[in-house]
Amino acid sequence: MGSARMNKKSAEKYAILFDMTRSERIGNLIGVAAPFVGVIAAVVLLWNRAVDGTDLAILAVMYLLTAASITVGFHRLLTHRAFQTYSWLEQAFAVGGSLAVQGSVIDWVADHRKHHAHTDKEGDPHSPHVGHGSGLRGLWHAHTGWLLETQGQADWKRYAGELYENPRMRRIGRLFPLLALLSLLVPTLAGFVLHGFTPEGALRGLVWGGLVRIFFVHHVTWSVNSICHFFGRRRFDLEDHSTNVAWLSLLSLGESWHHNHHAFPRSAYHGLRPWEIDLSGLFISGLEQVGLAWDVVRIAPERQRQKLTERQRQKLSLSART
Ligand SMILES: [Zn+2]
Ligand SMILES: [Zn+2]
Repeated sequence: MGSARMNKKSAEKYAILFDMTRSERIGNLIGVAAPFVGVIAAVVLLWNRAVDGTDLAILAVMYLLTAASITVGFHRLLTHRAFQTYSWLEQAFAVGGSLAVQGSVIDWVADHRKHHAHTDKEGDPHSPHVGHGSGLRGLWHAHTGWLLETQGQADWKRYAGELYENPRMRRIGRLFPLLALLSLLVPTLAGFVLHGFTPEGALRGLVWGGLVRIFFVHHVTWSVNSICHFFGRRRFDLEDHSTNVAWLSLLSLGESWHHNHHAFPRSAYHGLRPWEIDLSGLFISGLEQVGLAWDVVRIAPERQRQKLTERQRQKLSLSART
């Protein structure tokens, strides 16, 4: 009985880890981590020959700009309306998010709303548990494979009607191929100028600020789709497999508190506890402070408590008594 209770407890904590063998688990952790280790190794090996502080600074600025436009703009603002803002700022986010090269704004929003409508069930465009089993193939499908499939793309009118009706958003959507090119051109130009107007500088800007940065933003966003429905902790009573993954929280700008997000999709904050670092949430608070965001959606502690699992609620009342 003890072990049954233990299994249940762990299953709740680590989502569906029990469906995989140990070697499968190790295999896919290596698969996700290897590209990152590879890039870090490349930086160390090529230091001062093909990469330096300037290149990494361009990479960091481009990363923050495009990743935040996805997390704050595409996701919390345009998909979930977690706050209100001026239409010029909505359009700026739509342009900035397009520079992350994850598809046009209307496609992104429609696919993500479909994910929330059918989380981890038939119809979810990128669940690691639907259509491809709950093993490695499922994880691959959620991470990247779904982007290569022609079926499963969400209907614009059904899932992103208000963006589809907005001529400016439609125009930004149509400009996506051009914006993707711009996403490479900007760091190329920055490299050219900052490295003393040299062709080599332009090439370094293109590689580190363009290609490597796009690779990083892609993998971190996809990791929220795959890892955050696979490994990690849970505390709310939800029927899906969503999880909170602390070690991804900094790089994902707070998006890896994904279980919290599925519990309260409209919340502007995905980190709900003081130690759940959520840079995108902080950014929204900053916008609110300077008058660029209003009607920011916050979830009262009482509502959060009501959604906790029975076990978590017991734990809470136990610690309150001691
Ligand atoms: Zn999800
Ligand atoms: Zn969402």
